[in-house]
Amino acid sequence: MKIDYLVNFRLSALPEEKVDLLVLGSGVAGLSAALAAAARCRVAVICKGDPEEGNTADAQGGIAAALPADDSWRDHRDDTLAAGDGLCDRAAVEVLAREGAGAVQKLIGLGAEFDRRGGRIVFTREAAHRRARVVHARGDATGIEVEKSLLRAVADNSRIRLLPGTMTVDLLRRGDCCLGALVAERDGSLRALRAGAVVLATGGLGQIYRETTNSGVATGDGPAMAWRAGAALADLEFVQFHPTTLYLAGAPRFLISEAVRGEGGVIRDAAGRRFMPDYHKDAELAPRDIVSRALVDRIRRTNSSCAYLDVRSLTSRGFQRRFPKINALLRQYGLDAGRDLVPIRPAAHYAMGGVKTDLWGRTGLKGLFACGEAACTGVHGANRLASNSLLEGLVFGARAGRRAAAERRLSSRPALVSRRRLSPPGRFDIEDLCRSLRSLVWMKAGIERSGDRLKEARERIRFWQNYALRFETADRRGWEVQNMLILAGLICRSALARTESRGGHYRLDHPHRDDRRWLRQIVVKKTR
Ligand SMILES: Cc1cc2nc3c(=O)[nH]c(=O)nc-3n(C[C@H](O)[C@H](O)[C@H](O)COP(=O)(O)OP(=O)(O)OC[C@H]3O[C@@H](n4cnc5c(N)ncnc54)[C@H](O)[C@@H]3O)c2cc1C
Repeated sequence: MKIDYLVNFRLSALPEEKVDLLVLGSGVAGLSAALAAAARCRVAVICKGDPEEGNTADAQGGIAAALPADDSWRDHRDDTLAAGDGLCDRAAVEVLAREGAGAVQKLIGLGAEFDRRGGRIVFTREAAHRRARVVHARGDATGIEVEKSLLRAVADNSRIRLLPGTMTVDLLRRGDCCLGALVAERDGSLRALRAGAVVLATGGLGQIYRETTNSGVATGDGPAMAWRAGAALADLEFVQFHPTTLYLAGAPRFLISEAVRGEGGVIRDAAGRRFMPDYHKDAELAPRDIVSRALVDRIRRTNSSCAYLDVRSLTSRGFQRRFPKINALLRQYGLDAGRDLVPIRPAAHYAMGGVKTDLWGRTGLKGLFACGEAACTGVHGANRLASNSLLEGLVFGARAGRRAAAERRLSSRPALVSRRRLSPPGRFDIEDLCRSLRSLVWMKAGIERSGDRLKEARERIRFWQNYALRFETADRRGWEVQNMLILAGLICRSALARTESRGGHYRLDHPHRDDRRWLRQIVVKKTR
């Protein structure tokens, strides 16, 4: 469906404000961009909920960087390239690995406190890292420490203004130039923020899937609006599924960090049998996609609804001290880590794809930059190395902010009008559509995919788009679900095109990696 804007408007009739630089999103990427840009100009940062809401604050395990004395950026680069399964952008990975240690030092300079022993930072080793290089805070509360440190620095900076409860509905553009954003206040009223440049840092898209670890704000708004504006999106078929998330009716799909398995936690099936050694030589510490698929297979074979994480032997070894957040959550739902098996299932966790950028966050639209989980810099290729995404937000967020501030140009007021034929939604139940979409995408474009499943999903999504994208909505939920519909369609399209299995993308009908045909990115872009 051809669609430029979700809403109808006449720019000249809207309240308008001019800002030097506009940052969309207040996670690690957006705040890093704002802090870097503020050296050159005034910055407005908007987020659709509260500033701390997002995947950053929920991150647990830590940040990977070549900080330890026995490590080198080259080793970090090589581990990242290996995890990416042949599809990483080598130049982007080199930037990440080279600049990573400095970015974490800078964060420490802003007051972030990482766990130490005897005054020295403690490094953890995570799956597919050849060395212990992951810093963490209060055991498993790294994300909130990062978020709070950055928010404190932003609050101390008089050149940065934070506008919570402000949702970006669409990017304003003329031709291939981004001129700012159309935003909605909490009451749904629209206004225009015209900007010299826009940095899009709206985070992930996990909410498109029924089972996800992601925050409620991760509805893929950024990539969907960038696509409407004519920017290219890449690697959308690569979604990382995390194998161990809490599976209890009514409880959020809370992530139980890989580090728990790193410390000795094992996975059992409904009959109590440990099965991961049958699937991979590294057993529970095999790559995430392999553990996720093994779980799906075992759950199916045992005709049960979940598998179990067994951490009982760890409680005598300080489980509660090492993982206080996880332990508290288990207790909240009546589970005792020393006594009970923890019910688990895989869930959508991280989007490797997003708005395609160069090494400075530039997109295909002049004046539009992107960073963080909403962007595709190419550092993750087909699969993300654990703990590389907070680092990507720090490194590429700062690069995008610096460059956007340097290249900004406020244009004269354009005469923009959007006039689509929209109809009132009448008795339309947006939550019902949302549930159906999330279920469909989980079953047909989830951990195991096939041509038939993907085609069915694509057709059903197209059908839903035909009416749901025509409904006029004036609230956050309506726009979010419309964005999810657009992005889900693009994910199915990309996954259908890639007739091989690689990284996070697994096709039952094409189970092998095919370097001859597929050592390349799938890029989607709206036809004008
Ligand atoms: C449970 C969990 C654990 C994780 N653990 C780790 C880990 O240990 N290490 C690691 O490296 N990575 C981890 N990750 C991944 C990592 O946390 C994320 O990839 C990263 O934090 C994304 O940062 P971001 O700034 O791109 O997005 P976010 O932090 O998600 O921020 C997105 C921002 O965009 C705003 N926004 C979204 N849409 C709009 C809109 N339409 N208008 C205005 N604002 C909008 C939101 O309000 C929010 O402020 C984890 C992820 C999860 C979910």
